[in-house]
Amino acid sequence: MRLAMIVAVALSIAPLSAPAETDAPQPAAKSALLQSIAGDVKADELRATIAKLVGFGTRHTLSDTKSNTRGIGAARRWVKGRFEEFSRQCKGCLQIQMPEQTVTGERIPQASSIVDVLAIQRGTDDPDRIIVISGHIDSRVRDVMDAKSDAPGADDDGSGTAAVIEAARVLSKHKFRATLVYAVLSGEEQGLYGGKLLAQFARDHRWFVEAALNNDIVGNTVGTNGVKDATHVRVFSEGTRSTETPEQATRRRYNGGEVDSPSRNLARFVSGLADAYLTGFSVRMVYRTDRFNRGGDQVPMLAAGYPAVRFTEAIENYTREHEDVRTENGVRYGDVLDAVDFAYLAQIARLNAITMAALAMAPPPPTDVKIEGAVSMDTKVSWSPAAGAASYRVSWRDTTEPHWSNSQSANDATTLLLKDVNIDDWFFGVSSVSADGYVSPVVFPGPAGAFSAAAGAAEQK
Ligand SMILES: [Zn+2]
Repeated sequence: MRLAMIVAVALSIAPLSAPAETDAPQPAAKSALLQSIAGDVKADELRATIAKLVGFGTRHTLSDTKSNTRGIGAARRWVKGRFEEFSRQCKGCLQIQMPEQTVTGERIPQASSIVDVLAIQRGTDDPDRIIVISGHIDSRVRDVMDAKSDAPGADDDGSGTAAVIEAARVLSKHKFRATLVYAVLSGEEQGLYGGKLLAQFARDHRWFVEAALNNDIVGNTVGTNGVKDATHVRVFSEGTRSTETPEQATRRRYNGGEVDSPSRNLARFVSGLADAYLTGFSVRMVYRTDRFNRGGDQVPMLAAGYPAVRFTEAIENYTREHEDVRTENGVRYGDVLDAVDFAYLAQIARLNAITMAALAMAPPPPTDVKIEGAVSMDTKVSWSPAAGAASYRVSWRDTTEPHWSNSQSANDATTLLLKDVNIDDWFFGVSSVSADGYVSPVVFPGPAGAFSAAAGAAEQK
């Protein structure tokens, strides 16, 4: 009798007493590889890169492309040279591609060439699975059509470009299971042309883009109001998929999934890594695609169905962005080098590099994730096997919680019955886990949460 009572009490509290975990529950033991990558990212390297970029005077999309000292052509060739240098040091591990497209548009009246500089580090086991980091090399002043004036673009987006180059420098010393793509994009300020070109390149090459990490203005720590924040980065992620069909939207509205797109679960994964590997530095997730009514190169990736997030400094300085370099009434305007906080930028570059490494070492996220259990005390979670996964982990959280708070291993099974966890009361997801403990992002069930662009459109469950 007494024993039966104890069992009953234990069962009734089971869902709440499950071990609490951080997002994208990472292995208990920290990865020596991720720690070494974090330690290798250097503020001085980032400073040297931005100083070099600023030295090209302007990197406006419509600026000189022939000169070797001024304009966007010289800047792009210098980036290509950096990638070639890293590739020499890793015995040719980087393949450099420069997709190009001639475009005209509202901000490009004369047909002009958009050129992206990509360095591709092929994965050892799973080369078609792609993790992208991007930043935009083009810069501007107040008049978006002014291709002549000095436009140093130290923060916007010399900082993001420097994070991409630093990731390439550090990560090209290691080998990863999935492919890493380092993308320096053009034409952002004229209309996200380089991001569109990258999305098209990914489609043309039938890449399975698991994650795109866009870095745009990631080096400023003092706001226009003088408030300083050097301990957070904002990670913006869309709530529902850009590619959701009306039928999928109807189902999602009914059963939930507004805050569980693959991009949102990627943001949670990034947040979990910051907590595990960085000291005194954390992610502020923002439940938006970008800043209010503003845009960036993650948007064309999202439009193509790829999970993508935007990293942006915690607090912006509007006297620096898109301004002519000048001093007026004692206020300095313009996006100049000495306003960048390099130690802060290094933390964001570190977070990007360890995120890419963690994603590329983990197996692909599970597909065909389903939940069943209506009118039952238990919930059954199932999924298809992921190549290279040694085990799987099911996570769940209260429907109003921002982070995954509970998880349980399914070992190598592709189904898990959660006893006394009622399907009505929780959101669920699944991660795949490698034999050496790397965990994929959590995948929310159905098309709302699927990581594959094709699966998002096809999974009509
Ligand atoms: Zn920008």
